[in-house]
Amino acid sequence: MKPGFVIAVDGPAASGKGTIANRLGAAFGLPVLDTGLLYRAVGVALARGGGDLDDAEAAARVARGLDAGALEDPAFRTREAGEAASRVAAHAAVRAALLDLQRSFAARPGGAILDGRDIGTVICPDAPAKLFVTATPEVRAERRWRQLAGQGETVGLDDVLADIRVRDARDAGRDAAPLVRAADAVLLDTSELTIEQAADAARRIVEAARARRERS
Ligand code: C5P
Repeated sequence: MKPGFVIAVDGPAASGKGTIANRLGAAFGLPVLDTGLLYRAVGVALARGGGDLDDAEAAARVARGLDAGALEDPAFRTREAGEAASRVAAHAAVRAALLDLQRSFAARPGGAILDGRDIGTVICPDAPAKLFVTATPEVRAERRWRQLAGQGETVGLDDVLADIRVRDARDAGRDAAPLVRAADAVLLDTSELTIEQAADAARRIVEAARARRERS
């Protein structure tokens, strides 16, 4: 494999992109950055400090001081953190503050996988392999609901579906790096796929991209 092979995995909430990114990481021996955690960490830190999630400058200050080595806090995985993340992620200044960190991760000599919303469009527009992972809102809501239940969060499926719809609309409708499929990203709809089937399909897409790059 040529050095510096970057895989961009984008898609809406609970589409399966995180699981797919991790499976690809194991298959190709590449490190994975879940960029959603960066926005979650900013949202949680701002809220904990009593800040206003809609205050772009306050959110950007938190983003500039973010410790990217401390993303394992379980509080970042909650429903509330997802909502906070989506609000701070709409600020262009927050996105700018997190840009270098993501680009340096992508520039690792051995290559890297990043999953998020704007990896293939803004962070790594030249990535040789791009996937846009999606599924119907209903399927995604059920997945997220199971995940939250597994973490001990009791919430109704309808509420999770409503969250997903709000988050989809905010992420796709914002001015700053909206959620959109890059023109050269391969669409992978996981609505009717098992995890194994989705991971296999993703691996085949990446193998094809890698073969294309080796030939070029
Ligand atoms: O992927 P995850 O659900 O953890 O992302 C949480 C929120 O962070 C998303 O709803 C989105 O608003 C934001 N996000 C983003 N760009 C990324 C990753 C996440 O705007 N690259």
